[in-house]
Amino acid sequence: MTTTHHVPVLIVGAGFGGIALAARLRAAGITDFAVLERTADLGGTWSRNTYPGAACDVPSDLYSLSFAPNPDWSRKYGTQPEILAYLRRVAEEHGVTRHLHLGTTVTAASFDETRRHWTVSTDDGEWTADVLVSAVGAFAEASVPDLPGLGSFTGPVRHTLHWDHDLDLTGKRVAVVGTGATAVQLVPELRRVAEEVVLFQRTPPWIVPRRDRPTGRLRRALYRRFPVVQRLSRAAWYAGIESFGLPGFVHRAFRFPFEALGHYQLRRQVADPELRRRLTPGYMIGCKRAIFSDSFYPAVCADDVRLVTDPLDHVTPDGPVTADGTRHDVDVLVFATGFTAMPQLAEVVTGTDGRSIDDRYRERPQSYLGVANHGFPNMFTVLGPFGAAGNQSAVVMIEAQVGYIVDALRRIRDEGITRFEVRADAQDGFVAQTHARAGRGTWLRGGCSSYYTNGAGLNAGLYPGWSFEYRARTRRWDAERYDVSRAVPAEVAS
Ligand SMILES: Cc1cc2nc3c(=O)[nH]c(=O)nc-3n(C[C@H](O)[C@H](O)[C@H](O)COP(=O)(O)OP(=O)(O)OC[C@H]3O[C@@H](n4cnc5c(N)ncnc54)[C@H](O)[C@@H]3O)c2cc1C
Repeated sequence: MTTTHHVPVLIVGAGFGGIALAARLRAAGITDFAVLERTADLGGTWSRNTYPGAACDVPSDLYSLSFAPNPDWSRKYGTQPEILAYLRRVAEEHGVTRHLHLGTTVTAASFDETRRHWTVSTDDGEWTADVLVSAVGAFAEASVPDLPGLGSFTGPVRHTLHWDHDLDLTGKRVAVVGTGATAVQLVPELRRVAEEVVLFQRTPPWIVPRRDRPTGRLRRALYRRFPVVQRLSRAAWYAGIESFGLPGFVHRAFRFPFEALGHYQLRRQVADPELRRRLTPGYMIGCKRAIFSDSFYPAVCADDVRLVTDPLDHVTPDGPVTADGTRHDVDVLVFATGFTAMPQLAEVVTGTDGRSIDDRYRERPQSYLGVANHGFPNMFTVLGPFGAAGNQSAVVMIEAQVGYIVDALRRIRDEGITRFEVRADAQDGFVAQTHARAGRGTWLRGGCSSYYTNGAGLNAGLYPGWSFEYRARTRRWDAERYDVSRAVPAEVAS
């Protein structure tokens, strides 16, 4: 017989979100919770994306938890191994490790109205929990285009999310499909070992200067001795990055200074006018997330990198064929094509009407503040729909949501609340506001299609406002927007 474990709070996912929430719960004196993580390690994004060149795009002084500053970042932008080591250290120092159940995948979850708890099935037994928190992030599942003939390719096929470190690319001809943030980091590294990199571009990205550099000993010592200096650096980066919201959701007219930066980078780094033309985006900056890089354009200009802009048509045993009929013979095929819109968890968590989060999202992206969803009582999400900012470090939004959830869980415990569910009118009002506010910026009107929008051209899930305003809105749990009950149902009490 399988044992069912019961915990008051069950968190799914041990990335930045799950770790931050667990650490803050402990700091608030709430220690009866568990964190389920399907992989063998914590770290989420940063344990799984191990492709060469993986690093954050937001300076580490800001892309880190405010309650766990790290004076020892080796560079301005932490690399994947360093960010992973940081998260492991945070988990250890904040007592999170003992709550982790690694290698445990949630396969189903539904709310039991009678007992007022979630029943959660995993590949390692069953759990029940008074409150379920999804912290599975937005980039959990690899997206690979459905290209005819892909299965016939005779060489290895990899997605950057599942990088194979045993695959020796020395002297190989490698096709890279996609020119998003991942490819921009990967291609300069690949060309160091590969004989040739064939880069398939559908849409050129906007690229602005990155100015990455090692962190000097003096700066690290200063950060250690006077933590306020690092806090000031964090605040300065926060303000600078926040300003990307001006063209993103305030008005497209603000795009010109940002586009000037992109044109400057292109002119400075790409001498060949024809190549520059092919690399020039035909849409407004911010329509897709702008990328910080100083090494991508020089790599694309090199003799061992070939940029292909004709669309991919199909794949043969020897390599991909573009719409103009050219076959590009390669030894390895790498997809740097991003992630699916919804994580697997969304398909297996069912709400009170029997439909999954995914079913409801496909009908219409919805949530309340990215942290709650009508129809899913006793549940919170970290970075749920409309809870991520297109113009800010994800960690800033995660910390705001974690603060909100901890406040809620404290009150739920102290006030004996047995059931809570965000009200439909509160959620509808929030969703309507997000659509109204996203209307004038480049996210929706920038002339591109991106993961910012859905098939209907609507905001697909970004918070279209300032993150400081979002932080103010999530400073405390606004229980007045929820239906809350304290009573235990009679049939259970008797
Ligand atoms: C390559 C890359 C670079 C990035 N760089 C930046 C950046 O510079 N700045 C920025 O702001 N954002 C960046 N991001 C976005 C990044 O995902 C977030 O910043 C942040 O790491 C999200 O943390 P999370 O905990 O919400 O999700 P994740 O880190 O994705 O963690 C979610 C965890 O949930 C687990 N999980 C999923 N489903 C289940 C299940 N059914 N059962 C159990 N466990 C499950 C997953 O295994 C994973 O460990 C980047 C993303 C990628 C992919």
